[in-house]
Amino acid sequence: MRTIDSFINETLNSRQVQKQIDMEGRIDKTYEKYPELQEIDEKILEIRKEKIMKLLENESSSPDLESKDENELKAKRAKFLKNNCIAPEFDQEWVICEKCNDTGYVKKGNIRTVCSCMKDELEDAFKAAGLGDFKNIKPSLMDPKAIKNPKNKRAEARKKLDSVMAGIFKGEPQSSLIYSDGAQTGKTFLSVCVTKILIGCGLNAVYVKLEDLYDMSESELEDVRYADFLIIDDFISSSTKSFKIAAALNRILEFRSINEKFTMLVMGESPSEAVSGSEERVAAKLSHMECI
Ligand SMILES: [Zn+2]
Repeated sequence: MRTIDSFINETLNSRQVQKQIDMEGRIDKTYEKYPELQEIDEKILEIRKEKIMKLLENESSSPDLESKDENELKAKRAKFLKNNCIAPEFDQEWVICEKCNDTGYVKKGNIRTVCSCMKDELEDAFKAAGLGDFKNIKPSLMDPKAIKNPKNKRAEARKKLDSVMAGIFKGEPQSSLIYSDGAQTGKTFLSVCVTKILIGCGLNAVYVKLEDLYDMSESELEDVRYADFLIIDDFISSSTKSFKIAAALNRILEFRSINEKFTMLVMGESPSEAVSGSEERVAAKLSHMECI
């Protein structure tokens, strides 16, 4: 599975090539218009070459040799650039996004977040993380005021996930969690929002539905196991009677528990129903999990 970092790096690589091409084009155009400037630059280059040759021939030579000529040429060049209103950095690569300085990330306090210039890459990463069906769910909708119904556990779950996210940013070890609540209580909404927030901070967060495990290839399952943060939605204990799902889930939970990675199982059943209805090994793992 491709992570947000890999999408950003691909764009940065092509951006780097573009910057180089732009710079070369700018230099050619400027020299074409101002041959005098090209002459000065070539002379400076020549002096530098000579200096290096002399240094190589005789190590005791002063590196400042002929610097007077070079300094005069540099002063002439600076004056020429100023008089002709040429940007002094015309022969250097220009940054494309000033906001992130072409790193793809901006810092917000201690947390790095994906820069707005990487909007498309962020969407691609959401899709790769299993969030393709939730294009319209935006983390900005996750306002505490939007949690109106005191009868469901959304506020509690939100609070817990906020502390999990804070812990993940600090690199603290994490464990697994069961989030059980009735139908239509916003469990999926909250799960998607939190996964998107973490991807937006450069983390490898993944969202899957339990039944998705059935059709996943070994390498896809490996991606799920290794994710920094994992949500398994629509957990139904009866599905764990499928050998394939139970085997995949057991491996995921085991690996993530050993490696202290966060996993949240989201379900409509109560935790006790889930334990009693699940395949034996899955049930044993569920019975040790913290519950919301
Ligand atoms: Zn940027």
